[in-house]
Amino acid sequence: YQAKRDRSGVELYEARRDGNTPDRLGLLGDLRRALDAGDVELHYQPKVGFDGHVAGLEALVRWVHPERGKVPPDEFISMAESSGLMPRLTEYVLETALGQVARWRADGLEVPVAVNVSPRDVHTPGFAGAVAGRLARHGVPAGALQLEITEHVLLEDPQRAADTLAGLTGHGVKMSLDDFGTGYSSLVHLRRLPVSELKIDRSFVARLAVDNEDAEIVRCTVDLAHSLGLLVVAEGVEDDETWERLRDLGCDAVQGWLVAAAMPPDETTAWLRARGESGWRRDEPSPAAA
Ligand code: C2E
Ligand code: MG
Ligand code: MG
Ligand code: MG
Repeated sequence: YQAKRDRSGVELYEARRDGNTPDRLGLLGDLRRALDAGDVELHYQPKVGFDGHVAGLEALVRWVHPERGKVPPDEFISMAESSGLMPRLTEYVLETALGQVARWRADGLEVPVAVNVSPRDVHTPGFAGAVAGRLARHGVPAGALQLEITEHVLLEDPQRAADTLAGLTGHGVKMSLDDFGTGYSSLVHLRRLPVSELKIDRSFVARLAVDNEDAEIVRCTVDLAHSLGLLVVAEGVEDDETWERLRDLGCDAVQGWLVAAAMPPDETTAWLRARGESGWRRDEPSPAAA
């Protein structure tokens, strides 16, 4: 337990140190300018139930740097987190996603969208109220927004995090616990976080069909989550066999390249329209991963 705590402390330290190299500082300035210019995009990846119904979409940020090309989110998210740019990025992502949700709703597409938020956001004073204000401005009901958090929100000032999360759920926003199983003392966190959904990390899902231990971990996670009244989504589902295993283990929904990779807004609209009432069918050709 202590060792894991130490290890996550070291990770944070390294991210901060990396944030100070000239290369990263340059990239950070470029990201700031890209946000100001509206040059950062959101793509959307569907979450589907085993009967094919579209349960929601996850908004995933995409940044194409003018000289370096695509920068992976994991890279610039950690940079934004350790530099103070995170609130600006989250504001941008929430605005963009809510604007898109409002347009979809106006066109008769009522699909909930999940936005990833970082521990930094949850510790920003007034965050819950700001989210409620944005929902109202866009005329989007709180039930159409989900926020994905990780267990890391509890690392620093767990009481403030709990207050913010209670504020958000009080406004009607649904919370989802992302990357479940990768943090420390997950069971304790599950009891303390007001989440209604749990997402099993891709690292357990990827080898589910070939690794019995991973399959057991997934089975226990699904059972535990259900006994706490939570929905379970598996991330990173890439093939039919994994899909079938997850269905048999009682998982509620899947997300992954088997169904669709994250798509630009127009493509997402077309994807949603094509599924209409019938939902996604497993025999359709899966689009190439982005
Ligand atoms: P995440 O929230 O766990 O998102 C799932 C990641 O898995 C995404 O990576 C997605 O593209 C990828 N993925 C989905 N299906 C598959 C699959 O079948 N196979 C494989 N190998 N990968 C799959 P992405 O878009 O690179 O994002 C990485 C992480 O960056 C996200 O992990 C999330 O933690 C963070 N992130 C992305 N967008 C945002 C954002 O707007 N705000 C914040 N704070 N974090 C974000
Ligand atoms: Mg996520
Ligand atoms: Mg995840
Ligand atoms: Mg992840």
